[in-house]
Amino acid sequence: LPQVRLDRLLANLGYGSRREIQMLARQERILIDGAPVENAEARLAVAPDLSSRMVVDGEALDPLPGMVLMLNKPLGVTCSHKEAGPLVYGLLPPRWRRRDPALSTIGRLDKETSGLLLLTDDGALLHRVISPKHHVPKRYRARLARPLRGDEAAAFAAGTLMLEGEDKPLLPARLDILGPCEASVTVTEGRYHQVRRMFAALGNHVEALHRESLGLLELPGDLEAGAHRLLGAEDVARIF
Ligand code: URA
Repeated sequence: LPQVRLDRLLANLGYGSRREIQMLARQERILIDGAPVENAEARLAVAPDLSSRMVVDGEALDPLPGMVLMLNKPLGVTCSHKEAGPLVYGLLPPRWRRRDPALSTIGRLDKETSGLLLLTDDGALLHRVISPKHHVPKRYRARLARPLRGDEAAAFAAGTLMLEGEDKPLLPARLDILGPCEASVTVTEGRYHQVRRMFAALGNHVEALHRESLGLLELPGDLEAGAHRLLGAEDVARIF
């Protein structure tokens, strides 16, 4: 197991500077297995159960580095660290925004798209999910401005659909009709505004877009818009 200095671990989790962590320890506000930690410079093994054994100011320690998080992204928030306006990171506990390594979204949803969004501080995992090589299927529910004509599924499945301004056709995608103006679309790429532009290429217009799944990982029905949940290894394995 990796060994890390307690003050460094807590500083990287956003609890404060190393000086501030040393102060917390002196004030007996950091407990491991119920006992105050006296020396903030002590090295400890970063075991997965550390989060449940360690308490800071009366609360369980934040998730250790290597966390993966599912968020039900609401409309009107942006998947960006730097743009103006409300950001998805603003929906998370403030301390999580001070983590190093930082939490990032795994891919992006448009400001006006809702649904399943993953975040992680694990760069290798992030790249594995968004890498075009892995073709992770992403399923969206789309509400359309005009009734479906009936030829859309074939057009998406053909692997020949061209988006405006691009010179490489899209890989085959799946469309299931759910209603006159409602469809489920599964794509394995992540081009800019892809689903909206796929319907635009067929003369329709997406009015509402919601991501329901990534691989075999589904957005749970009881996760409200704006709410988040930590994922375990079994959940993460369902992505691939
Ligand atoms: N396709 C889009 O057009 N927008 C998204 O947010 C995701 C997929």
